[in-house]
Amino acid sequence: MYGAGDVRVEQLPDPVIEQPTDALVRVVRSCVCGSDLHPYHSMPTSEQGTQMGHEFIGVVEEVGPQVATIRRGDFVIAPFAYFDNTCVFCREGLTTSCEHGGFFRTAQAEAVRVPLADGTLVKAPVDEDSALLPSLLTLSDVLITGHHAAVRGQVGKGSSVTVIGDGAVGLLAVLSAKRLGAEQIVLMGRHTARTDLGREFGATEAVSARGEEGITAVRELTGGHGSSAVLECVGHLPAYEQALGVVRAGGVISRVGVPQYQEAPAGLDLFGRNITLTGGPGAQRSYVEELLPDVLEGRIEPGRVFDRTVGLDDVPAGYQAMDSREALKVLVLP
Ligand SMILES: [Zn+2]
Repeated sequence: MYGAGDVRVEQLPDPVIEQPTDALVRVVRSCVCGSDLHPYHSMPTSEQGTQMGHEFIGVVEEVGPQVATIRRGDFVIAPFAYFDNTCVFCREGLTTSCEHGGFFRTAQAEAVRVPLADGTLVKAPVDEDSALLPSLLTLSDVLITGHHAAVRGQVGKGSSVTVIGDGAVGLLAVLSAKRLGAEQIVLMGRHTARTDLGREFGATEAVSARGEEGITAVRELTGGHGSSAVLECVGHLPAYEQALGVVRAGGVISRVGVPQYQEAPAGLDLFGRNITLTGGPGAQRSYVEELLPDVLEGRIEPGRVFDRTVGLDDVPAGYQAMDSREALKVLVLP
């Protein structure tokens, strides 16, 4: 990406093993993320440009001499962060805060160098032609992020949940809330085709209105009090304000949309009603391990969020299609 709206496909040198703990992964499937659209709107023009992409599954081609559990030929899922899985934060399960970790930025490509391969990569017992590939790919970001929203939102049996945003993460936050036992799931989104898929994933109601009108509609659906868990899957300030408007006293606002603002109401609105504000990046290894069996055994089908496939050469068109809302989520087939 060379600036807002400027995505180019270029030939770069193949990645190589740089550290003894690295693996090289040939990308079998990658995709474009809703969060890639933020720089697609706002990135200042850059001469060097920046590589893009943080979601991928693939086959291990080579490993460094200190890699113990991953072998050439393994089919692997990479969450959107890498981590050692041994430091103090990793042992607490918060692998996105790994003392030695970081985030992938080069996955819209044919191959990726994976640092800390033993900690990061999760093996999946599938072949490259598996029908499960789209669903497995959601374990690299959108499913684990939706799950994270629900976990941080303390969603459990009988919860009343409002999900803000009908992008892939929002829809999979619905699926995750349902999976964790939520009883009512209100999905706020404007695109009927998307909210319809959300209903199939478990939404009990959909609200297309936004702002005050949307808040009023959700409150009417939730006995006038609002939802105990609000999963904010957009990242723009109006979505946060909407979350404040629909959260029940004593409830939780859980944000997984990357905030595109630095300042937001956090005073009496939160304090006076004992609201918890939480959320953040959800690339926790434990989520991949927890959700993988449900994908492999077909209990959930999160890959349904992909509605378009492009080759690498057409990635710029893929960005465009997602940006114009023609496509919900674009799968990249290198
Ligand atoms: Zn760590």
